[in-house]
Amino acid sequence: MSDPLLSIRDLCVDYITDQGPVRAVDRVTLDVAPGEILGVAGESGCGKSTLAQALLRILPPPAVISRGEIRFEGCDVLRLGEEELRTLRWRRISMVFQSAMDALNPVIPVGEQIVDTLVAHDAMDTRAARRRAAELLDMVGIPADRLDSYAHQLSGGMRQRTGIALALALKPSLVILDEPTTALDVIVERDILDQIRQLQRELGFAVLFITHDLARMLQVSDRVAVFYAARLVEMGPADEIRRAPKHPYTQGLLRAFPSLHGESSPQSIPGSPPSLESPPSGCRFHPRCDRAVPQCREEEPALLPLASGHSAACHLAE
Ligand code: SF4
Repeated sequence: MSDPLLSIRDLCVDYITDQGPVRAVDRVTLDVAPGEILGVAGESGCGKSTLAQALLRILPPPAVISRGEIRFEGCDVLRLGEEELRTLRWRRISMVFQSAMDALNPVIPVGEQIVDTLVAHDAMDTRAARRRAAELLDMVGIPADRLDSYAHQLSGGMRQRTGIALALALKPSLVILDEPTTALDVIVERDILDQIRQLQRELGFAVLFITHDLARMLQVSDRVAVFYAARLVEMGPADEIRRAPKHPYTQGLLRAFPSLHGESSPQSIPGSPPSLESPPSGCRFHPRCDRAVPQCREEEPALLPLASGHSAACHLAE
């Protein structure tokens, strides 16, 4: 990989509770290259959204970054002051949240929200900002005459497209998409993901695409990182993971979604993710893994390289 845009090393995020720290992101190391789409997959509570919040340093209390390093475009994110963080957020890294309805202000027209962002962060005059806001809406497939619409006057798909326009307003080099299409029907979801991919090719930004839907992610991403119970358990090129996933959890996630051509029916992974307050010993997936051997209960597998940029944390991975 060329010099990474984003480099995360040994990152830990803890929730400080009366019973002690609960680790929500555990010793995660990964890179994102300029212009790359990295998918981050895993079930709810696996740490993927916490990781995104840590990158922007917007973790809600009582979560704290307890260890590790985050470097973005060469600068040490954990040492930035408030003013530098303000520049980092939106201008260099922006985020589209799960529910654009929650992220958009319901009492301000959507165009005005884009204008406000451009005026506040880009020192644009209002007239130029309004022209740019119309361009941004057009870029995501919303007619410019919706500039004066309120969020509740737009469909779910249009609200989410507006959230994407807002995220692209300041031409960031990384856009974090946190479950951007979860609340939408499959047709709208596919259109929006196609559009994100097209915009990413045209504008060259990198994407951290967070979702529980591994099958959907594989269609969009260049590389994929799979999380389980706060740990990164498999990482590799999307084609390689689609063709030959090595970790039994990744294999289970792939079986849990309908196949594109309907040749097999979905099968859920038995059991549920463990509590992070007291995760299982050894491999955290062992209580749900049909391939577990005695070693799995005692020894935690390290994330080891396999081939072609592919790595997995499983004692049985070749
Ligand atoms: Fe399953 Fe063992 Fe591999 Fe964990 S280390 S995924 S329990 S085979």
